[in-house]
Amino acid sequence: MIMQTRTSGNPQAAPANGASGALPRGMRVFERGWLSANNVLLVDGDDTVLIDSGYLSHAAQTVALVESALQGRPLRRLINTHLHSDHCGGNAALQRRWQPQTWIPAGDADAVVRWDTDALTYGPTGQQCERFTSDALLHDGQALRLGGLDWQVIAAPGHDPHAVMLYAPEAGTLISGDALWQNGFGVIFPELEGESGFAEQQAVLERIATLDVRLVIPGHGAVFTDVAEALERAAGRLAYLRADPKRNALHAMRVLLKFKLLEQRQMRRDAMLAWMESATLIETVRTGALGGISRPALLDDVMAALVRAGAARLEQDLLLNQD
Ligand SMILES: [Zn+2]
Repeated sequence: MIMQTRTSGNPQAAPANGASGALPRGMRVFERGWLSANNVLLVDGDDTVLIDSGYLSHAAQTVALVESALQGRPLRRLINTHLHSDHCGGNAALQRRWQPQTWIPAGDADAVVRWDTDALTYGPTGQQCERFTSDALLHDGQALRLGGLDWQVIAAPGHDPHAVMLYAPEAGTLISGDALWQNGFGVIFPELEGESGFAEQQAVLERIATLDVRLVIPGHGAVFTDVAEALERAAGRLAYLRADPKRNALHAMRVLLKFKLLEQRQMRRDAMLAWMESATLIETVRTGALGGISRPALLDDVMAALVRAGAARLEQDLLLNQD
Protein backbone atom coordinates (compact mmCIF):
# COMPACT_ATOMS: atom_id res chain seq x y z
CA MET A 1 0.00 0.00 0.00
CA ILE A 2 1.40 3.37 -0.95
CA MET A 3 -1.37 5.46 0.47
CA GLN A 4 -5.06 5.83 0.28
CA THR A 5 -6.20 8.39 -2.21
CA ARG A 6 -9.54 9.65 -0.99
CA THR A 7 -9.66 13.38 -1.24
CA SER A 8 -11.75 16.09 0.15
CA GLY A 9 -14.03 17.18 -2.66
CA ASN A 10 -17.18 16.37 -0.77
CA PRO A 11 -16.81 16.56 2.96
CA GLN A 12 -19.59 14.78 4.70
CA ALA A 13 -20.73 14.12 8.17
CA ALA A 14 -20.35 10.48 9.08
CA PRO A 15 -23.73 8.98 9.98
CA ALA A 16 -24.55 9.04 13.65
CA ASN A 17 -25.63 5.44 13.34
CA GLY A 18 -24.69 2.97 10.72
CA ALA A 19 -22.10 0.54 9.52
CA SER A 20 -19.32 2.72 10.88
CA GLY A 21 -20.67 2.47 14.44
CA ALA A 22 -22.61 4.86 16.58
CA LEU A 23 -20.92 8.11 17.50
CA PRO A 24 -21.40 9.38 21.05
CA ARG A 25 -24.31 11.79 21.42
CA GLY A 26 -23.48 15.36 20.44
CA MET A 27 -20.57 14.35 18.26
CA ARG A 28 -20.22 14.89 14.52
CA VAL A 29 -17.35 13.90 12.29
CA PHE A 30 -16.61 15.81 9.12
CA GLU A 31 -14.73 13.32 7.02
CA ARG A 32 -12.52 15.48 4.86
CA GLY A 33 -10.03 13.33 2.97
CA TRP A 34 -6.24 13.51 2.80
CA LEU A 35 -5.34 17.14 2.15
CA SER A 36 -7.48 18.14 5.13
CA ALA A 37 -7.69 15.97 8.22
CA ASN A 38 -11.10 15.04 9.58
CA ASN A 39 -12.76 17.47 11.98
CA VAL A 40 -14.65 16.31 15.06
CA LEU A 41 -17.31 18.58 16.51
CA LEU A 42 -18.54 18.01 20.06
CA VAL A 43 -21.59 19.86 21.30
CA ASP A 44 -23.13 19.77 24.75
CA GLY A 45 -25.42 22.74 25.26
CA ASP A 46 -23.25 25.82 25.07
CA ASP A 47 -20.07 23.78 25.21
CA THR A 48 -18.83 23.54 21.64
CA VAL A 49 -15.48 22.02 20.72
CA LEU A 50 -13.78 21.32 17.40
CA ILE A 51 -10.91 18.88 17.13
CA ASP A 52 -8.56 19.55 14.20
CA SER A 53 -9.24 22.08 11.49
CA GLY A 54 -7.98 20.81 8.12
CA TYR A 55 -5.58 22.34 5.61
CA LEU A 56 -5.21 26.05 4.85
CA SER A 57 -6.71 25.91 1.36
CA HIS A 58 -9.89 24.39 2.83
CA ALA A 59 -10.16 26.84 5.73
CA ALA A 60 -13.25 28.66 4.41
CA GLN A 61 -14.97 25.32 3.91
CA THR A 62 -14.04 24.29 7.46
CA VAL A 63 -15.53 27.47 8.92
CA ALA A 64 -18.68 26.95 6.83
CA LEU A 65 -19.07 23.34 7.97
CA VAL A 66 -18.69 24.27 11.62
CA GLU A 67 -20.94 27.32 11.31
CA SER A 68 -23.70 25.28 9.71
CA ALA A 69 -23.46 22.54 12.35
CA LEU A 70 -23.44 25.00 15.28
CA GLN A 71 -26.66 26.69 14.18
CA GLY A 72 -25.85 30.09 15.60
CA ARG A 73 -23.84 29.01 18.62
CA PRO A 74 -20.22 30.17 18.85
CA LEU A 75 -17.29 27.76 18.77
CA ARG A 76 -15.85 27.89 22.31
CA ARG A 77 -12.84 25.62 22.04
CA LEU A 78 -10.47 24.36 19.37
CA ILE A 79 -8.16 21.40 20.01
CA ASN A 80 -5.39 20.02 17.81
CA THR A 81 -4.20 16.41 18.01
CA HIS A 82 -0.96 17.66 16.48
CA LEU A 83 0.20 20.61 14.46
CA HIS A 84 0.79 19.18 11.02
CA SER A 85 -0.49 21.54 8.37
CA ASP A 86 -3.45 19.32 7.48
CA HIS A 87 -4.68 19.32 11.09
CA CYS A 88 -4.39 22.98 12.05
CA GLY A 89 -4.58 24.89 8.75
CA GLY A 90 -8.04 26.18 9.62
CA ASN A 91 -7.05 27.39 13.11
CA ALA A 92 -6.40 31.01 12.08
CA ALA A 93 -9.71 31.30 10.21
CA LEU A 94 -11.64 29.76 13.12
CA GLN A 95 -9.90 32.15 15.51
CA ARG A 96 -10.92 35.12 13.38
CA ARG A 97 -14.52 33.90 13.28
CA TRP A 98 -15.10 32.91 16.94
CA GLN A 99 -11.94 33.41 19.02
CA PRO A 100 -12.19 29.86 20.43
CA GLN A 101 -9.89 28.94 23.29
CA THR A 102 -7.19 27.01 21.43
CA TRP A 103 -5.51 23.96 22.96
CA ILE A 104 -2.36 22.48 21.42
CA PRO A 105 0.04 19.69 22.44
CA ALA A 106 2.40 20.97 25.14
CA GLY A 107 5.48 19.97 23.16
CA ASP A 108 4.64 22.50 20.45
CA ALA A 109 4.04 25.45 22.78
CA ASP A 110 7.31 27.32 22.20
CA ALA A 111 7.33 26.72 18.46
CA VAL A 112 3.85 28.24 18.18
CA VAL A 113 4.75 31.29 20.27
CA ARG A 114 7.81 31.93 18.09
CA TRP A 115 6.01 30.65 14.97
CA ASP A 116 9.03 28.55 14.17
CA THR A 117 8.03 27.10 10.80
CA ASP A 118 11.00 24.74 10.82
CA ALA A 119 10.05 23.18 14.15
CA LEU A 120 6.41 23.16 13.07
CA THR A 121 7.50 21.33 9.86
CA TYR A 122 5.82 23.70 7.38
CA GLY A 123 9.13 24.88 5.93
CA PRO A 124 10.85 21.48 5.63
CA THR A 125 7.77 19.79 4.12
CA GLY A 126 7.02 22.67 1.74
CA GLN A 127 3.50 23.01 3.14
CA GLN A 128 1.52 26.02 4.28
CA CYS A 129 -0.15 27.04 7.50
CA GLU A 130 -1.44 30.44 8.57
CA ARG A 131 -0.10 31.67 11.86
CA PHE A 132 -2.36 31.13 14.86
CA THR A 133 -2.04 31.46 18.63
CA SER A 134 -2.65 29.05 21.47
CA ASP A 135 -4.28 29.56 24.86
CA ALA A 136 -3.83 26.23 26.63
CA LEU A 137 -1.72 23.09 26.48
CA LEU A 138 -2.48 19.38 26.30
CA HIS A 139 -0.40 17.05 28.46
CA ASP A 140 -0.22 13.27 28.61
CA GLY A 141 -2.65 12.02 31.25
CA GLN A 142 -4.66 15.24 31.43
CA ALA A 143 -8.42 14.94 31.95
CA LEU A 144 -10.79 17.05 29.86
CA ARG A 145 -14.56 17.39 29.78
CA LEU A 146 -15.63 17.76 26.15
CA GLY A 147 -19.11 17.47 24.70
CA GLY A 148 -20.53 16.07 27.92
CA LEU A 149 -17.96 13.25 28.09
CA ASP A 150 -14.80 12.71 30.12
CA TRP A 151 -11.71 12.42 27.96
CA GLN A 152 -8.08 11.55 28.66
CA VAL A 153 -5.19 13.04 26.75
CA ILE A 154 -2.76 10.33 25.67
CA ALA A 155 0.65 11.12 24.23
CA ALA A 156 1.11 9.55 20.80
CA PRO A 157 4.67 10.09 19.55
CA GLY A 158 5.85 8.15 16.50
CA HIS A 159 4.24 9.98 13.59
CA ASP A 160 4.86 13.29 15.33
CA PRO A 161 6.83 13.50 18.59
CA HIS A 162 4.32 15.88 20.21
CA ALA A 163 1.04 14.37 18.99
CA VAL A 164 -1.74 13.40 21.35
CA MET A 165 -4.88 11.30 21.11
CA LEU A 166 -8.13 11.75 23.02
CA TYR A 167 -9.82 8.81 24.70
CA ALA A 168 -13.30 8.69 26.23
CA PRO A 169 -13.45 5.47 28.29
CA GLU A 170 -17.19 5.66 28.98
CA ALA A 171 -17.94 5.82 25.26
CA GLY A 172 -15.08 3.50 24.25
CA THR A 173 -14.09 6.16 21.74
CA LEU A 174 -10.61 7.15 20.59
CA ILE A 175 -9.79 10.22 18.52
CA SER A 176 -6.52 8.91 17.16
CA GLY A 177 -5.19 11.66 14.88
CA ASP A 178 -2.54 10.11 12.63
CA ALA A 179 -1.41 7.52 15.19
CA LEU A 180 -3.90 4.92 13.98
CA TRP A 181 -5.99 4.76 10.83
CA GLN A 182 -8.16 1.91 9.67
CA ASN A 183 -5.33 0.96 7.34
CA GLY A 184 -2.06 2.10 8.82
CA PHE A 185 -0.88 5.39 10.30
CA GLY A 186 0.92 8.57 9.29
CA VAL A 187 4.52 8.69 8.08
CA ILE A 188 7.01 8.12 10.89
CA PHE A 189 8.62 11.53 10.43
CA PRO A 190 11.29 11.49 13.18
CA GLU A 191 13.05 8.51 11.54
CA LEU A 192 13.57 10.58 8.39
CA GLU A 193 15.91 12.82 10.34
CA GLY A 194 17.68 10.05 12.20
CA GLU A 195 15.56 10.27 15.31
CA SER A 196 13.60 7.50 16.94
CA GLY A 197 9.98 7.05 15.84
CA PHE A 198 9.39 3.36 15.12
CA ALA A 199 9.78 2.35 18.77
CA GLU A 200 7.44 5.16 19.87
CA GLN A 201 4.84 4.15 17.29
CA GLN A 202 5.06 0.55 18.49
CA ALA A 203 4.45 1.71 22.06
CA VAL A 204 1.47 3.81 20.96
CA LEU A 205 -0.12 0.81 19.22
CA GLU A 206 0.49 -1.30 22.32
CA ARG A 207 -1.01 1.40 24.51
CA ILE A 208 -4.16 1.56 22.39
CA ALA A 209 -4.48 -2.22 22.69
CA THR A 210 -4.69 -1.87 26.49
CA LEU A 211 -7.63 0.55 26.25
CA ASP A 212 -11.27 -0.41 25.83
CA VAL A 213 -11.59 1.18 22.39
CA ARG A 214 -14.70 0.23 20.44
CA LEU A 215 -14.78 3.16 18.02
CA VAL A 216 -11.90 5.04 16.44
CA ILE A 217 -12.22 8.45 14.84
CA PRO A 218 -9.03 8.68 12.79
CA GLY A 219 -7.40 11.80 11.43
CA HIS A 220 -8.08 10.58 7.89
CA GLY A 221 -10.58 8.14 6.47
CA ALA A 222 -13.80 6.74 7.88
CA VAL A 223 -14.68 6.14 11.49
CA PHE A 224 -14.16 2.43 12.25
CA THR A 225 -14.96 -0.22 14.82
CA ASP A 226 -12.69 -3.12 13.80
CA VAL A 227 -10.06 -1.88 16.23
CA ALA A 228 -8.21 -5.16 16.84
CA GLU A 229 -7.87 -5.72 13.11
CA ALA A 230 -6.67 -2.16 12.55
CA LEU A 231 -4.06 -2.57 15.28
CA GLU A 232 -2.91 -5.79 13.69
CA ARG A 233 -2.62 -4.16 10.25
CA ALA A 234 -0.73 -1.23 11.77
CA ALA A 235 1.67 -3.53 13.62
CA GLY A 236 2.34 -5.42 10.39
CA ARG A 237 2.93 -2.21 8.50
CA LEU A 238 5.26 -0.91 11.21
CA ALA A 239 7.30 -4.13 11.20
CA TYR A 240 7.59 -3.87 7.41
CA LEU A 241 8.85 -0.27 7.56
CA ARG A 242 11.14 -0.95 10.45
CA ALA A 243 12.83 -3.87 8.68
CA ASP A 244 14.28 -1.44 6.13
CA PRO A 245 14.15 2.29 6.97
CA LYS A 246 14.53 3.08 3.26
CA ARG A 247 10.91 1.93 2.94
CA ASN A 248 9.77 4.64 5.34
CA ALA A 249 11.89 7.19 3.46
CA LEU A 250 10.43 6.31 0.04
CA HIS A 251 6.92 6.17 1.46
CA ALA A 252 7.44 9.63 2.96
CA MET A 253 8.55 11.02 -0.41
CA ARG A 254 5.43 9.62 -2.06
CA VAL A 255 3.21 11.05 0.65
CA LEU A 256 4.82 14.52 0.48
CA LEU A 257 4.64 14.72 -3.32
CA LYS A 258 1.07 13.43 -3.36
CA PHE A 259 0.17 16.03 -0.75
CA LYS A 260 1.65 18.75 -2.95
CA LEU A 261 -0.33 17.48 -5.94
CA LEU A 262 -3.49 17.44 -3.84
CA GLU A 263 -2.81 21.04 -2.90
CA GLN A 264 -1.87 22.28 -6.39
CA ARG A 265 -4.01 19.81 -8.40
CA GLN A 266 -1.41 19.96 -11.19
CA MET A 267 2.20 21.05 -11.53
CA ARG A 268 4.77 21.37 -14.26
CA ARG A 269 7.70 19.04 -13.76
CA ASP A 270 10.09 22.01 -13.40
CA ALA A 271 7.92 23.57 -10.72
CA MET A 272 7.80 20.29 -8.81
CA LEU A 273 11.60 19.95 -8.98
CA ALA A 274 12.00 23.52 -7.70
CA TRP A 275 9.56 22.82 -4.89
CA MET A 276 11.42 19.61 -3.99
CA GLU A 277 14.65 21.59 -3.74
CA SER A 278 13.02 24.09 -1.40
CA ALA A 279 11.53 21.43 0.88
CA THR A 280 14.51 20.70 3.11
CA LEU A 281 13.08 17.48 4.53
CA ILE A 282 12.93 16.04 1.01
CA GLU A 283 16.54 17.11 0.46
CA THR A 284 17.59 15.52 3.74
CA VAL A 285 15.99 12.22 2.79
CA ARG A 286 17.18 12.35 -0.82
CA THR A 287 20.80 12.97 0.12
CA GLY A 288 20.67 10.72 3.19
CA ALA A 289 18.44 7.65 3.41
CA LEU A 290 17.99 7.53 -0.37
CA GLY A 291 21.72 7.57 -1.04
CA GLY A 292 21.95 10.80 -3.01
CA ILE A 293 19.62 9.81 -5.84
CA SER A 294 19.27 12.79 -8.21
CA ARG A 295 16.21 14.99 -7.79
CA PRO A 296 14.82 14.18 -11.29
CA ALA A 297 15.35 10.46 -10.71
CA LEU A 298 13.56 10.68 -7.36
CA LEU A 299 10.68 12.56 -8.97
CA ASP A 300 10.43 9.92 -11.75
CA ASP A 301 10.47 7.15 -9.19
CA VAL A 302 7.78 8.73 -7.02
CA MET A 303 5.61 9.67 -9.99
CA ALA A 304 5.82 6.13 -11.36
CA ALA A 305 4.65 4.78 -8.01
CA LEU A 306 1.81 7.31 -7.79
CA VAL A 307 0.71 6.55 -11.36
CA ARG A 308 0.77 2.79 -10.63
CA ALA A 309 -1.39 3.42 -7.57
CA GLY A 310 -3.83 5.55 -9.57
CA ALA A 311 -2.97 8.58 -7.44
CA ALA A 312 -1.49 10.73 -10.22
CA ARG A 313 -1.15 10.90 -13.96
CA LEU A 314 1.32 12.41 -16.39
CA GLU A 315 0.69 14.44 -19.49
CA GLN A 316 4.12 15.12 -20.96
CA ASP A 317 5.73 17.51 -18.45
CA LEU A 318 2.53 18.09 -16.50
CA LEU A 319 1.93 16.13 -13.28
CA LEU A 320 -1.73 15.86 -12.39
CA ASN A 321 -3.39 14.79 -9.22
CA GLN A 322 -5.79 11.90 -9.57
CA ASP A 323 -8.32 11.09 -6.87
ZN1 LIG B 1 0.06 14.27 10.81
